[in-house]
Amino acid sequence: MTQPSRLDALFCERALLAEGWRSGVLLRFDGRGHVASVETGLPAAPAGVERAAGPVIPGLANLHSHAFQRAMAGLTEKAGPSEDSFWTWREVMYGFVRRIDPESLQAIAALAYGEMLEQGYTSVAEFHYLHHAPDGRPYADPAEMSKRILAAADDAGIGLTHLPVLYAQGGFGGQPPGAGQARFLNDPEGILRIMESCRAVPGDHRIGLALHSLRAVTPEAMDESLAGLAALDGTAPIHIHVAEQTAEVEGCVAWSGRRPVEWLLERGVLTPNWCLVHATHVTASEVAGMAASGAIAGLCPTTEADLGDGLFPARDFLTQGGRFGVGSDSQVIISAAEELRLLEFGQRLSERRRNWLAPGPGASTGASLYRAAAEGGARALGLSAPAPGIAAGQRADLVVLDGDAPRLYGREDDELLDSYVFATSGRAVRDVMVAARVVVRDGRHLKAAAIREGWKRAVTRLRASA
Ligand code: ZN
Repeated sequence: MTQPSRLDALFCERALLAEGWRSGVLLRFDGRGHVASVETGLPAAPAGVERAAGPVIPGLANLHSHAFQRAMAGLTEKAGPSEDSFWTWREVMYGFVRRIDPESLQAIAALAYGEMLEQGYTSVAEFHYLHHAPDGRPYADPAEMSKRILAAADDAGIGLTHLPVLYAQGGFGGQPPGAGQARFLNDPEGILRIMESCRAVPGDHRIGLALHSLRAVTPEAMDESLAGLAALDGTAPIHIHVAEQTAEVEGCVAWSGRRPVEWLLERGVLTPNWCLVHATHVTASEVAGMAASGAIAGLCPTTEADLGDGLFPARDFLTQGGRFGVGSDSQVIISAAEELRLLEFGQRLSERRRNWLAPGPGASTGASLYRAAAEGGARALGLSAPAPGIAAGQRADLVVLDGDAPRLYGREDDELLDSYVFATSGRAVRDVMVAARVVVRDGRHLKAAAIREGWKRAVTRLRASA
């Protein structure tokens, strides 16, 4: 599929810049689709410049995605024979994983990425562990599945930070992998080769590394892959699933005498390049250590709710200057606004308080969370010039809200973001631009028809092979 051409400039009657809301904003873009300059206070759009159809905000980075799981959304909500948990969900997921071929992966990912764009995400970090054929053997090109992810991101026009996942053991202390994990396994050398292959693919992709979890990598494999990554790209993002489940924390303590975040802190590896996904079960000292390290907390409230994971102590982390972003993870819900809403709602339900994550009296909760997630998410994806609003040097990843929608009409500035986060569902995003290319118009992805046809074929194949 061909890419739409880039805009040279965009005039916004009102836009959320890094320094705050401004009127009469003229954004000019360079040939790579980055913001080259920002002017404010213009009375009208200069001749020939596109005028945004509503208030303009920075797009959010979706910092945690397993695109293939989009095809399972809604299929794991039937009670099993015994008590259900993350671990019974994982068995269902392993059964599903066996049936995904490269073509299906690309079609499913293109659908998920198109939906992300329609719901306010302009880039995604793909935490990709589905490397090999169903029997565990590498494809003729070991990077085949990664390249399908790159192609899907190009089809949909979403910014991609691709994170091939190191998965090297079945559980803490060198436990052998199970059959359901055969497609995931690699050693550090294999992962670095996949990363190198992806770096050679032309396009606007960033390549980083993911360590599946401390239960799935040995300390030696972790050190070797981190050293390899440092040689390849010292600024690349490093993501890890860290403390999603209490059983995982207990397993880590039994193996090492340390909790997962505590173990990483003691090892001294955490830097602002790290993203700790699902740091759900952490003590006060782990929270303080995470915030001080500059690592981003990768929060996925809709998936964490769906899987019954637990609640991250977000207020403690934010008051210590911790940075976070949000991700759609299992894709059970794809909505930038809904992740932020559920982040705050989870805290309200547990604390029996309101506006629990606002930074202080008078601050708008939804607007504060949106700004923080825009900046934290951009950092987690390794994007340039991360800021809590639109700024020169950033990629022109922009969301135009539908200011005429009844739930947004008459709202201004931070009220508008509060209403977007807390009081809309679905139809609040009007147009979306990625690297200055329009990919969504009037709420619909421009290639939605073709992407949905590919998706239907993939679903039909998957159901036939069940
Ligand atoms: Zn995950």
